Amino acid sequence: MPQANTENQTSFSNSTVANYPPIQRDLQAKLLDGYKCPVVPPSSFSEPSSLTDLEIHSLKHYIAWKKSNGTVKAYELHAQVLQQASQLDILSLYAVCKLAGSLAKVEPVKIDMCPRSCIAYTGDFKDLKSCPHTIKGRIACGEKRYIAGSKPKPRAQMLYVYFISIIQAMFANKQSSQLLRYRDRYLQETLKLLAVGSQSSGVQAQARYSDFPSGSVHEHHYKNMGLFQDERDIAFALSTDGAQLTMKKQSDNWILILILLNLPPELRYHSNNIILTMAIPGPQSPENIESFV
Ligand SMILES: [Zn+2]
Ligand SMILES: [Zn+2]
Repeated sequence: MPQANTENQTSFSNSTVANYPPIQRDLQAKLLDGYKCPVVPPSSFSEPSSLTDLEIHSLKHYIAWKKSNGTVKAYELHAQVLQQASQLDILSLYAVCKLAGSLAKVEPVKIDMCPRSCIAYTGDFKDLKSCPHTIKGRIACGEKRYIAGSKPKPRAQMLYVYFISIIQAMFANKQSSQLLRYRDRYLQETLKLLAVGSQSSGVQAQARYSDFPSGSVHEHHYKNMGLFQDERDIAFALSTDGAQLTMKKQSDNWILILILLNLPPELRYHSNNIILTMAIPGPQSPENIESFV
C-alpha cells in the first residue's frame, strides 16, 4: 500500500487582489492561457450540438458504466445488449473515453523525461537533449533524451493531465460549479460568526474549527495574506508517493493527486473527485520533482 510521505497545501487563485510577486503572476497568466472563470455558475449544461445518435448513446452508456463502477467486461457486455436493442454500433471503451475527454477538453499529454526519472523536460530543461541532473557536486546524469535515428523518439515519457482543464470542466458544469463554491460559503459564514462573537462578548469567540474553510489558517489566508478573495479561488491538498503496481518486480510508479478543499468534506475524498494529475513511470523515483509538477 502506498503511504503518503509528502504532503502540503497550496493554492491556485483567480483573484487579482492578492499581491503576488511578478514571477508568480507571470506563471499564473501562462497557465491560464486567457481563460476566464465564469462569475456565476452556469444555469444549464451547454448542449453539444454536433453529436451523432451513436455518440450520444455511447456517452450515456459510458456515464452509467462509470457511475456504477463497472468493470471493462461489464462495459462490453452491456454495450452488446444496447447494440442489439438500438441497432447502433456502440463505441468501444477506448473510443468513448477519447470522445468524453475531447468534449470536456480534458486530455492527457505525454511529456519527455529522463529514463532514470531525474527530471522531466519542462521549463528550463525544455530544449535539452540529455539529462543535466547532478546530485551534490557529482557529475551530471547525462542520459540521452532520444533514441537516435532519422526520427528521434523519446526514451521515456510521463503522463500528465492539466489539472486546470479539469477545474475548468468542473466550473462549466452546474452541479460541480456550485459545489466548488462551498469553501467560500463556509468561510464567509465563519467570519460572520467570529465577528458576532467578538462584539457580544468582547473576547475572541472560541469557535470550534472543524474543517479547512473554517480553520484559522484559512482565516489568515483571507484576512492577512489577501488570498482567496474570490469565491471561485481553489484550494487543494497535494499528495504524492510511489506506488508499486505489480507484485512481480520492483517497478515503482510515482503518482501525484490533488484533493480539492473547495468541495464539501463528505465529497472531497471520493475517488471520483480526487484528481490524479500525473503518473511518472519507474523504476527509480523522481529526483527533481519540481520539473515534473
Ligand atoms: Zn537523468
Ligand atoms: Zn538523477
